[in-house]
Amino acid sequence: MRLDEITIQRIATDTKRAFPNTGRENPPSSIAITRIIYDVYQPTNQIRCEASVMSSGTAYTSIIEFLNVDFVDENDTAAQQGVELIGTNTRTYRIAPMSVTVGDALVSCTCEDFRFRFAFYNFQKRCLYGNLPPQYVRRTQTRPPANPTKSIGMCKHLHAVVNTLRREGKVR
Ligand SMILES: [Zn+2]
Repeated sequence: MRLDEITIQRIATDTKRAFPNTGRENPPSSIAITRIIYDVYQPTNQIRCEASVMSSGTAYTSIIEFLNVDFVDENDTAAQQGVELIGTNTRTYRIAPMSVTVGDALVSCTCEDFRFRFAFYNFQKRCLYGNLPPQYVRRTQTRPPANPTKSIGMCKHLHAVVNTLRREGKVR
């Protein structure tokens, strides 16, 4: 494992350290993951998981891209531990469960918590999926900054996606 790796666990740990009592890591059951699609890039060992999330009547898109996925085939001794998923190209792939503790990952979510609090710092630390959203311009100095320690982070929707992937055995 590389020391500068930014894993899902690292992002989650940093989020909790920066915001200890906000419960993002325990998303409420009212958050529903309605669909996850998988864009699979086998030659580069990447899988992009795009989740449709319903939260308090609002739809969000949460994306996690795993950058160090291990693919296995039936002849592989690791095949028994593998898990299948179907890519958006309709092909079935067998992979070792994607790791939250080893390998880099990129994240993004369309919610305000992610865009205004975390996206910029994730961009700086190279764990943002996609482009930097338009910057939030503070209109007032009377409120505390949204992210005083400039921490990378994940919103409750991204945590909910990780939990769903873990329940399905695609992530561990
Ligand atoms: Zn979110």
